[in-house]
Amino acid sequence: MYASLRTNLPRDLMATTDFTFEEAGLGKSPLFPRHETVLAYLEAYLDHFDIGHSITYNTTVQNVEPISPAQSEGMPRWRVRVTGDHFEGKIRSKENETEREFDAVCVANGHYSVPRIADVPDLAHFKGLQLHSHNYREPSHFMGKHVILIGASASGEDISREIAAVASRVVLSSRGGQGGSGLQGEYENFTCQDALVRVDRSSGDLIFADGRREACDQDSILMHCSGYHYSFPFLESSGLISTEGGMVRPLYEHLMHVDKPNLFFIGIPYKVVPFPQFEVQARFVSRFLSGHFSIPDATERKAAHASWLTSLEERGIAKRHAHKMGDMQWDYNDRLARLGGFECLESWRSDGYKAAGDAKRLNPLSYRDKCEWRKPMT
Ligand SMILES: Cc1cc2nc3c(=O)[nH]c(=O)nc-3n(C[C@H](O)[C@H](O)[C@H](O)COP(=O)(O)OP(=O)(O)OC[C@H]3O[C@@H](n4cnc5c(N)ncnc54)[C@H](O)[C@@H]3O)c2cc1C
Repeated sequence: MYASLRTNLPRDLMATTDFTFEEAGLGKSPLFPRHETVLAYLEAYLDHFDIGHSITYNTTVQNVEPISPAQSEGMPRWRVRVTGDHFEGKIRSKENETEREFDAVCVANGHYSVPRIADVPDLAHFKGLQLHSHNYREPSHFMGKHVILIGASASGEDISREIAAVASRVVLSSRGGQGGSGLQGEYENFTCQDALVRVDRSSGDLIFADGRREACDQDSILMHCSGYHYSFPFLESSGLISTEGGMVRPLYEHLMHVDKPNLFFIGIPYKVVPFPQFEVQARFVSRFLSGHFSIPDATERKAAHASWLTSLEERGIAKRHAHKMGDMQWDYNDRLARLGGFECLESWRSDGYKAAGDAKRLNPLSYRDKCEWRKPMT
């Protein structure tokens, strides 16, 4: 995480329904706070609900497997193997392995830690340094440098703006070439480029989709702001999950394994407001496991999943965009709430999301301080 990181969503939107930033003692923080404030919010959440004792820290899940045969369509028990702290919380040596059985498993391992490197032919012929935005911390290392960033999503835009203040030349490459265009007027050394399509084998120059070329040498720096891979190494031996093409499957409602409906995945969708969506997913899971509602049978779940895959294909949606939600997140959250029989998220959240998006488009450099949206008083 970079040192200067501020949220790209208003904090009131990010809060769960049962704990505001005010209740966390952070009511004086800016609408788009720094990352330390988000950490403080999460720590206050843990204290407020007194749930720290349920967490076993310093423990790595190495393997998760169903105990009943993998082809069974019911709900197996699960064997979980960990290294590190003991399940009961007692610290043992790193080599120590422990196994325990569970009635259900909820995977919530995040998807911002295994960097995805842009798939560009002849990348090895680039003569300079390559790194991923995951390893970016602060701009001083880029003083006077020639930097090309691939990908103009949240990280690419934030980092290119920060680097433009110190580098000699910054190029932000994105599909369509318009990513970060708001920065062009601000920094003379900043240029937007179309998607990077290949590296010239002899010169090591970068070639973009519109045929333009960026001359590069051994001092140039190529930063991949091209996202992350979904990764579930602890499920590999079970063969239950595929992440091929950047899509996690087979999942029912992006959440529940189609064949094993007591294996859940919290937080798979992206371009969402994460924490309240996690809350909705977690409520769905807990109400399902405690028998408050039932879900379609395995045949229907498989059919629903198959028709969803077909519809993605028909709409020309690439696999890696299968979990991208944006404006669709609100219908998704409401659908889970209705199925699970609990309250939908407050309607002001979608208004706030739209207002923050509009503010960002209008003022890409200063939207965090200029956004006028405020959570309505209740
Ligand atoms: C640059 C950046 C900026 C962002 N800005 C915002 C923002 O402004 N607002 C916002 O709401 N969200 C933002 N996000 C997204 C937000 O950080 C994520 O949605 C959120 O952290 C996901 O939470 P999580 O608990 O699912 O995963 P994580 O926070 O990634 O936590 C996963 C946890 O699982 C642990 N883990 C992984 N594998 C294992 C294993 N085998 N055994 C045991 N433990 C394991 C990890 O150590 C980690 O502690 C941003 C993300 C990035 C990368």
